[in-house]
Amino acid sequence: MDSNSDTICSEKTGYILSKNSYRLALSLVDYSSEGVDNILKATDVVESEIIDLLKENIEDCPICRTSEKAVRGWLKGALSDLLHNESARAKLNTCGLCRIHSDTFIQVVKSDSDIGALSAAIMLCDILRCQIQDIKELESAKKRKRRILSKAGDSCYLCKVSSDTEQRFVKAFAIFFNELDVRKAYENSNSIICVEHTRQMSTIETDSRRWFLSTQQNMLGALLDDMEILIKKHDYRNTEPIGRERASWVTAVRVIGERE
Ligand SMILES: [Zn+2]
Ligand SMILES: [Zn+2]
Repeated sequence: MDSNSDTICSEKTGYILSKNSYRLALSLVDYSSEGVDNILKATDVVESEIIDLLKENIEDCPICRTSEKAVRGWLKGALSDLLHNESARAKLNTCGLCRIHSDTFIQVVKSDSDIGALSAAIMLCDILRCQIQDIKELESAKKRKRRILSKAGDSCYLCKVSSDTEQRFVKAFAIFFNELDVRKAYENSNSIICVEHTRQMSTIETDSRRWFLSTQQNMLGALLDDMEILIKKHDYRNTEPIGRERASWVTAVRVIGERE
């Protein structure tokens, strides 16, 4: 890194950091230049994007939310322009769909009037045709062994879209929390970064790391207090009406993680 230049670039992390403001040159989906990926390619994660996510003020994790949005966007793009999206079809076809993203697939098709059963069926025919072939190959013990070996490390392509977006935003949030405006926007927002993304962000050394971990404990602690109030208000002797704590358990489901 050259401390005298206006721009600090790290190839390893993909960051381009200017002296006055941080800017992450991060593509939203992947670096492919083909097909549907062009739609989302080279979308930079900038400070205003992080602030906009926080301003949405939804009681969930903004990193989880943006990853789900990226998956829906990618899938919508792939299904809207099937004829020109050979590469997107091939990507989905290679590894099929996991349970989570098969539900996303149904939701995207049903919620968008531009995408009909025809697009869904064309896409799914490709995938199912390959998977029938996989079953046919199970007849041969030799091929079954090869198949199991080659399966290691494979996953649904939408999981990759999700985790790529997730990693970009984990880094972006960690870096932008060094800015006072972003810290204030987070403190004033109803959003809470989930436990899993808290863990991931804690592995990135930044000036704001200590502030972040303390803020997370306060925010998650306040959520715990709300749920305890909710429990107490269910006591038959209680006369106070249930207020904003009503939805605290829903927020808790959204931010809770797996224990390591
Ligand atoms: Zn999250
Ligand atoms: Zn998946």
